[in-house]
Amino acid sequence: MTRLPEGCVSPGALVTDPDIVATYAVDSSYGAEPAPDVTLVRAAGIDDVIAVMREAQAHGIPVVPQGARTALTGASCAVAGGIILNVEDLQGIDIDPVEGHAWVGPGVVTADLKAAVAEVGFHYPPDPASADTCTIGGNVATNAGGLCCVKYGVTADYVSALEVVLPGGEVMRTGKRTAKGVAGLDLTGLFVGSEGTLGVITRALVRLQPAPDPALTALATFDSLDDAVSGILAVRADRHRPSLLEFLDRASIAAIAAVGDYGFPDGCEAALLVQSDRPGHTAEDVERYAGALAAAGATEIAVAENRSEGDLLMQGRRMLNYALERKGPRLGEDACVPIQRLAEFVRIGQQIAAQTGVEITLSGHGGDGNLHPSLFFDGTPGDTHRVEHALDLVLRAALDLGGTITGEHGVGLQKRHHLTWELGEAEIRRQLALKAVFDPLGIMNPGKVYDLGALRH
Ligand SMILES: Cc1cc2nc3c(=O)[nH]c(=O)nc-3n(C[C@H](O)[C@H](O)[C@H](O)COP(=O)(O)OP(=O)(O)OC[C@H]3O[C@@H](n4cnc5c(N)ncnc54)[C@H](O)[C@@H]3O)c2cc1C
Repeated sequence: MTRLPEGCVSPGALVTDPDIVATYAVDSSYGAEPAPDVTLVRAAGIDDVIAVMREAQAHGIPVVPQGARTALTGASCAVAGGIILNVEDLQGIDIDPVEGHAWVGPGVVTADLKAAVAEVGFHYPPDPASADTCTIGGNVATNAGGLCCVKYGVTADYVSALEVVLPGGEVMRTGKRTAKGVAGLDLTGLFVGSEGTLGVITRALVRLQPAPDPALTALATFDSLDDAVSGILAVRADRHRPSLLEFLDRASIAAIAAVGDYGFPDGCEAALLVQSDRPGHTAEDVERYAGALAAAGATEIAVAENRSEGDLLMQGRRMLNYALERKGPRLGEDACVPIQRLAEFVRIGQQIAAQTGVEITLSGHGGDGNLHPSLFFDGTPGDTHRVEHALDLVLRAALDLGGTITGEHGVGLQKRHHLTWELGEAEIRRQLALKAVFDPLGIMNPGKVYDLGALRH
């Protein structure tokens, strides 16, 4: 049943085909199931967003803002009886080369923005591994990270201003259009990473950087986990930060090696990939990083002399997702620890695997201390419970080491109770009070991020 009156949105925006609606009702999270009684609007422009937000507020209907549905947490899954407000068709890239920024529609695919600004000599650094499909609106709403954060930071570091439609249909503008500006509270920062719980982002002003050089790569392998982490610390301490510093643990290397020969020696304990994109200095940087990795105890090091050799070295890392998919159903997770505790985190993860019988790989953005543990289901009775228990232990370990339950994927549906572990009830209540300023009826993405049922009354 549609929850919107006839003619409320532009012709064609209201999608009624049940198969299409069911497709849009789930995101990329493991085990996502379509909720019942869902209305799908594919907004053709901001007027559709305003109309939906007006109706939703008037009748207390839940709204789930949605981009490309690549969320791995259930954040963009439909809510029963609610409206999915998909904004992929809100396009547009308007580059101001003098200010070095661009207004971007929320539906613009991240890779398309990167390509468009590169054509005029700029660089938009955030680069989630899903960049070929995910959208700028989704990236802002999840504060997406990616492979180059070690040098360039996360999406939040590039968002200057937003246009947002609030429940009730008010169009709000946050932030500043100038290079500097400190007037008032940072409401832009509040919306970045809010996972659709405050309003619908309809435009974002993003900062651009001068274009870097094509990156050069080195690959180092280690017989010892501690040596690999020493290598990460050594490279991070360099005056010129690498633009990428990725870590693979023993189990991830074994998974990649099962797909093909990507140059990892048999039985190695860990591997690091490091890149420089510093204009005019990539070769000297990568040589210097290789020296630091050798001093840290790397057993083998390969340094690319040109881009195509670098691509070959990166191939193993690029195969990781496929290699893990191939192993079978899994929870693809996300946690971040202080960098000097990374070796402990990996070791504890290995112990949890041995203790629970759940196979776990730990790899990812080592230069940020941000790993993506994968926890595999084995199809035996009770494996769901075992995997969830193992995940609880992994996330508890991340917190005990001074880390966080999510470095970049967000909370969504799947980590609501872990968020309470991390923030505590008093902080959750403060955040809910802030949410109520923008969303007094609680219609924005209800049930996501905050576990209201778990709060004491
Ligand atoms: C293969 C793969 C690799 C990935 N790699 C990375 C990675 O390296 N780094 C990383 O950070 N993430 C990664 N992700 C997760 C995901 O791609 C990111 O979270 C991405 O930012 C989501 O963008 P999206 O357009 O798909 O948003 P969706 O999944 O549609 O939505 C995500 C959240 O944002 C909200 N939202 C979307 N659009 C808007 C809007 N216009 N206004 C308000 N709220 C909105 C939704 O309500 C939801 O809460 C990966 C996912 C996959 C499948």
